Amino acid sequence: MDFDLFVIGGGSAGVRCARVAAGHGARVGVAESRFWGGTCVNVGCVPKKFMVMAAEYGAMAEDALGFGWEIAKGRHDWAALIAAKDAEISRLNGIYRRLLDDAGARIFDAKARFIGPHTLDVGGQRVTAERIVIATGGYPTGLEIPGAEHAIISDDIFVMKDMPQRVAVVGSGYIAVEFAGVFAGLGAETHLIYRQPLPLRGFDADLRSNLAEALTQNNVILHAGNRPAAILQDKTGKHLALSNGEMLGVDVIFFATGRAANTNGLNLEAAAVKIGARGEIPVGQDFATNVPHIYALGDVTDRLNLTPVATAEGHALADTLFGSRPRMVSLENVPTAVFSIPPIATVGLTEEEAAQRPNGAKIFVSKFTPMRHTITGRSRKTLMKLIVDAKTDKVLGAHMIGEDAPEIMQGLAVAIIAGATKADFDRTIGIHPTAAEEFVTMRTQSRVVGPMTGPV
Ligand code: FAD
Ligand code: NDP
Repeated sequence: MDFDLFVIGGGSAGVRCARVAAGHGARVGVAESRFWGGTCVNVGCVPKKFMVMAAEYGAMAEDALGFGWEIAKGRHDWAALIAAKDAEISRLNGIYRRLLDDAGARIFDAKARFIGPHTLDVGGQRVTAERIVIATGGYPTGLEIPGAEHAIISDDIFVMKDMPQRVAVVGSGYIAVEFAGVFAGLGAETHLIYRQPLPLRGFDADLRSNLAEALTQNNVILHAGNRPAAILQDKTGKHLALSNGEMLGVDVIFFATGRAANTNGLNLEAAAVKIGARGEIPVGQDFATNVPHIYALGDVTDRLNLTPVATAEGHALADTLFGSRPRMVSLENVPTAVFSIPPIATVGLTEEEAAQRPNGAKIFVSKFTPMRHTITGRSRKTLMKLIVDAKTDKVLGAHMIGEDAPEIMQGLAVAIIAGATKADFDRTIGIHPTAAEEFVTMRTQSRVVGPMTGPV
């Protein structure tokens, strides 16, 4: 065999797995066909967060007035933002490649496909490997409606030449909500079209309703309970027909309607690797596919499609196979954030999930005007929520919408994973004056949910 391990895909999962395995002394090859660092670095988390930061500055300039600063808001230069973002991304591409090189992995800037269970075609070169990792990620999926070819997907936004003046964002998942904030913050007339009554299906209901309020306050026009029916294009621009008969005239229609596992073109049949109904590769806790020496990691398995999950999986597999440190990755209590404006962060059970458990749950909610906005006058609220097991007192979930929510939630996730009780939260002294201290000073129970019997 040419390699002990060959990794297909140089994204979050693949780079971590290849680098750590090579560090453990394995002979490692890794192929990347598009961009080192994968989705997160090139068309995902990193450039997205720069855009969210850019969008926040406009409001910050306005808010500064309340504190005595006179800052003219001026015009936003989209081209300058894209150039700054591109420079940083190309620096990161280099770092990812160098990390692999330094670890001793052999790098292939090429597309890989199976030609046998242990054999790959890598850009026309035949390579063999004892073990193979598939870490090929996912791709954005649009909607199949008449005129769909006039819409764009998230990859396109990062290379757009101009900032559109009028945008229709379709969907209300992570990407839709984040980019609605970006476009509205940068001054575009922004429509959000989604089929649910509230955005972010699956998140805690209090977060969802408060997000809808915040989006409206940020001038995003919400079209709840609606679906796109067709797109027409003429000299005046694009027209999106909605299921309720309304017609929106816009410059850009953005489908943020989910992603699918990227298994196309891998020729998995040559290795007899099975895929699921959505194209995803099912794996066990050891990341093995139905073929024991072939593994799959990250978004291509379509479980929890987040970068830290992908890197944790890559690291665990490399340690298990080559580091004499067998490890698994728990997908329970994975914290996550949505970089809306203001952001959302969450870990553990929602109130709706906790209500289904036999023990029931005590719910603590606090909603307030953050200190900054008592002076700026901006109508923006922070909401914090704890879900506590009514019998054991264990904190089952923490949720927040408000400034710094993702930064605060990372620490709370440690407490929840360690099994902290509400009493542990209560005996923790706060840091004052912060919003975060509210999580350790919530004393008044808002309600109790679930099928409890007797007093709690
Ligand atoms: P990827 O990073 O997609 O890497 C797969 C790589 O494989 C790609 O580089 C691809 O080119 C390569 N490849 C595919 N086929 C082949 C082949 N045949 N041969 C060689 N190479 C191949 N997650 C967060 O945690 N936080 C966020 O804020 C966040 N924001 C996001 C914003 C957007 C707009 C998007 C789209 C995603 C975001 N995500 C975020 C999700 C995150 O990007 C993914 O979960 C993560 O990148 C998955 O890593 P991966 O290694 O599984 O796949
Ligand atoms: P999501 O799965 O989060 O959301 C998809 C959205 O599209 C939902 O609102 C869904 O509606 C809607 N939708 C799907 N199909 C249709 C349809 N046929 N008609 C109308 N609406 C439809 O996907 P995203 O594209 O937002 O993001 C993909 C993944 O990437 C995320 O799930 C997440 O794992 C990751 N990501 C993480 C980020 C982070 O950590 N901050 C940021 C961005 C992405 P409905 O709810 O009704 O099904």
